Amino acid sequence: MATETVPSEFDLIRRYFTRATPGAVLGVGDDAALLALTPGFQLAVSTDMLVSGRHFFPDTDPEWLGHKALAVNLSDLAAMGARPRWVTLALALPEANEAWLSAFARGLYALADAHGVELIGGDTTRGPLNICITVLGEVEPGQALRRDAAGVGDDIWVSGELGGAALALRHLRGELDLGAAADRALERLHRPLPRVALGLRLRGLAHAAIDLSDGLLADLGHILEHSGVGAVLDRAAIPAATPFSAEFAAAFADFKPYFDGCVLAGGDDYELCFTAAPGCADAVRKAAAECGVAVTRIGWITEALDFVDTEGRVFAHTKGYDHFA
Ligand code: ADP
Ligand code: MG
Repeated sequence: MATETVPSEFDLIRRYFTRATPGAVLGVGDDAALLALTPGFQLAVSTDMLVSGRHFFPDTDPEWLGHKALAVNLSDLAAMGARPRWVTLALALPEANEAWLSAFARGLYALADAHGVELIGGDTTRGPLNICITVLGEVEPGQALRRDAAGVGDDIWVSGELGGAALALRHLRGELDLGAAADRALERLHRPLPRVALGLRLRGLAHAAIDLSDGLLADLGHILEHSGVGAVLDRAAIPAATPFSAEFAAAFADFKPYFDGCVLAGGDDYELCFTAAPGCADAVRKAAAECGVAVTRIGWITEALDFVDTEGRVFAHTKGYDHFA
């Protein structure tokens, strides 16, 4: 009688998370990975954890999860202007579900390959589903795009469109029905595209940068706070996701009440928000065009410490999602 063998932790690591890592001295399999930095570069390190039931619905397609868990980490390095090179993966799984693992690995490796990033280690344990990735990258000394570097008079820019992921979340929760626009919004929620190429191109051009994980007001708020400056935002200029855009305005008039919540305060878009000297506007547009990413100037940095729109109205809720509030 054939007996079903349960794969061991080591079988799973070997099957799903062990691949050649030519960019590392030593990858998966030993007590630690060994990495050689490009001489003269600094190491940029960032960790992001995705917890089931908190950051994603437990039944989310595992291929999307593999993509997203890596995407949110690559987005952090993009916001630093660093080149991602390696990642580690700490994974807690309720059971050794090979269909789940195989799809998860497929999503993760597809994005990793697209960015030339290698999985060089991690940890695998049984427990409530939890995905924690650490990304390691490189940046030249003095070139990183930091939150504390916005200058008075800088233009404020964002990449892409905002609010799509937040709309998709409301759609999934049944709070609204996006109808024909649902697929596009869900794509934004499940498969965000980290703006790595843009972040790299902005080195030496942008002053401060941040990625939009918690919402425009909250994340730009971090730049303002760290840089000790204020901002004026032109609400009309902010590039809103499709259901809010002019072409859909008539059909989606119902969504107006959601605009502030999704476009200004919605999280999970993973676009970049950055500041640059006004004289650099053409260079910023050119850099973005070369990366195939749209960028929009949405305001400017002020000496006054307020955060207001062009009519002087103060933005009320500048705090983003707070897990402990
Ligand atoms: P240790 O007990 O020494 O911590 P582990 O048994 O946890 O080693 O891991 C064995 C090897 O497999 C290590 O090189 C570790 O980095 C790697 N590893 C474990 N889990 C993962 C994972 N989910 N993804 C990639 N590498 C992993
Ligand atoms: Mg271990």
